[in-house]
Amino acid sequence: MTEDQQYAAVLADLCAAHHAFTPPQATTVSAGATQNLVIRQPGTAGGPWDKDETPYMVEPMDILGSRLHEACIFVGPARTGKTLGLLLGAMSHIVVNDPGDILFIQMTQDKAREFSKTDVRRAIDYSPNLSNMLSSNASDRNTHDIMFRNGMWLRIAWPTVSNVSGSTYRFSFITDLDRIPNAENVDGEGPLFDLARKRTTTFLSRGMTLAESSPGIEITDPGWKPATPHEAPPVSGVVGLYNRGDRRRWYWKCPHCESDFEAAPGLGLFHLPPDDQLIETVRTTDLEVMAKSYGSRIIPPCCGAEIPFSEKQALNRTGRWVSESEMLGNGKPKNKIASYWLGGVAAAYQSWESLVLRYLQGLRDYAITGSEESLKATINTDQGAPYMARHLVEMQNGALTPAERAADLPRYVVPEWTRCLVASVDVQGGSTARFEVQVHAVGPYLEQQLVDRYAIKDSKREGMGSDFAPIDPAGYAEDWNQLTEKVLMATYRTGTENREIKIRLCVVDTGGEDGVTDRAYAWWRSLKPLGFADRAMLYKGANTKGAPILRKTWQGKRNDKDKGDVPVYVCNPNLLSDAVAAGLRRQTPGPGYIHFPKPKHPTQNPGGWLPQAFFDELGAEVRGKDGVWEKVRKRNESFDLCRMIRAGLLRLGLDKIKDWSVVPAWLAPLELNSEIMTVEARRAMKEDEVVSVPLPTPQVRIVNRPKSRRRAVASPYLG
Ligand SMILES: [Zn+2]
Repeated sequence: MTEDQQYAAVLADLCAAHHAFTPPQATTVSAGATQNLVIRQPGTAGGPWDKDETPYMVEPMDILGSRLHEACIFVGPARTGKTLGLLLGAMSHIVVNDPGDILFIQMTQDKAREFSKTDVRRAIDYSPNLSNMLSSNASDRNTHDIMFRNGMWLRIAWPTVSNVSGSTYRFSFITDLDRIPNAENVDGEGPLFDLARKRTTTFLSRGMTLAESSPGIEITDPGWKPATPHEAPPVSGVVGLYNRGDRRRWYWKCPHCESDFEAAPGLGLFHLPPDDQLIETVRTTDLEVMAKSYGSRIIPPCCGAEIPFSEKQALNRTGRWVSESEMLGNGKPKNKIASYWLGGVAAAYQSWESLVLRYLQGLRDYAITGSEESLKATINTDQGAPYMARHLVEMQNGALTPAERAADLPRYVVPEWTRCLVASVDVQGGSTARFEVQVHAVGPYLEQQLVDRYAIKDSKREGMGSDFAPIDPAGYAEDWNQLTEKVLMATYRTGTENREIKIRLCVVDTGGEDGVTDRAYAWWRSLKPLGFADRAMLYKGANTKGAPILRKTWQGKRNDKDKGDVPVYVCNPNLLSDAVAAGLRRQTPGPGYIHFPKPKHPTQNPGGWLPQAFFDELGAEVRGKDGVWEKVRKRNESFDLCRMIRAGLLRLGLDKIKDWSVVPAWLAPLELNSEIMTVEARRAMKEDEVVSVPLPTPQVRIVNRPKSRRRAVASPYLG
């Protein structure tokens, strides 16, 4: 800019100063947005913001200009046009018609920069009424601060104490509140919403605070029932703020019977089959076909006549917000906080079909892997509803515990659907030193059955009298040979005589008292010459909450340059626990379900082989609010051993198999499985065994080895 140009710019600004003294235009925020905000998607001509596209935005936007209200809360899914309406629409009105400093609070500094450079930048560039208001002095503008010719500031910041407790603003607008990690407490100063609201109080009735977000805080009380028609679950975050306000919901008018009904958050209007039924079928159903059929229409509660998707925009155009006090017949609300909760079914930019499809996909993910992440994401951001963890949902349904579901199952015998056997070993030191061993038969989609559980307490070393010495996993390397002999060389009976199945993988914990780790490494090295190294997996629980579920590391290095020669799998116990717990909650056999034998009982089941203590240990850990599992009973071995077996299944890549009719030979059905051996072969293997010195690979005759139809089953968690 030359000096002349700069002078001209300053002069223009000075002359434009009368803007600051113009009285606020008596126009609504939504009308102001229509006048002043031009929307242009890349590659389109663009046009003014159109209230008819998102009619549900009009009232919340207009509240932002209301002198009767101090705050506006908007709970709603993505794809509602809330950024356009509540942030950019309101901004364009304020800049042109009703100047006052604005503070936009974005999730992080990066988000603030992004929002400034894309959304805000484009809104100003495409809207002549806004770009004309820009101060022509370039120094009045940077990524986070924009000054307009009328003297008003727009600040685009992120939640730190200095950003939200320094200056005062007439408007504080918080975006994505529930995605902000420190929203509950900003640097020890209190909740973000309250801090932001304080910024506006000097403006009295002209100040306004907005918080908008899709719900993100989980429901923790499975027993909660709404006390009033519009009450939301008792959670913190944006839903909690909604409850503090006057609780408005979006109602549609039924085109068939003219009744009003709520476009409620969630998927209630689609009348999907119940969840427990869906979970059983999502794996085998064509989800796209199902979503097309269920998402083509809604069925309102009034008359039950179907309303097709083509009517959605018409429903929104005649829709209206109804507050709780109107709902209860008490007239207009008097609350200073206007609060809105919109369901995903009304979201202008999301089809019903995709809304249903995303839910079904989330359920399928959960059914196959036990992971709730995508299910939670679609419920929060597509449906606009808060999430309740599956174990709580199922608790509501009066579900049976694993012990109550247990059946008469024999020890040492695998079920006919078995594809492989996986064992896990907990290493205990001290006065009760032992190896605690658990063995699961594993079938398609990780369905499992407990076929053995025992402790190895004796070593092969000489002990007192004629007994063997007690085992000492921390002290004696040779005691670990018991695992080779008793676990790696064990076989289990199938339903067919003279056909037994070997253990494919044995997962061993390497943590615990001093000495255990080194002995475990030495044991793994001893397996290499025996040809068993591939069948043993050393396990270590990760220390950090955000660790990946399974990560292969190399340990046992002798010096700094050494890379280590022992593979150790560092696992995230919390994520494994989630997956195990998902299987334990299942009420019917299927993916991840674990079949347990009935516990031994003196009168009801005297012939049982599994003690009741097994089930007590199984319930010894509970998931905390933060997703961290904690022990609530002293002994938790059963659960821990299930968790390690789960890690083994991931290491084998079983979670990635989509089609169980195309698998490697070791995963084939029993009649074709390459891990099957005859009783004679097993005896020969055991006789050959001299575990203290290196051995050639045991000679094993495998019957009926099928032509290997290999398919890559490598787990993505490796490497
Ligand atoms: Zn109706």
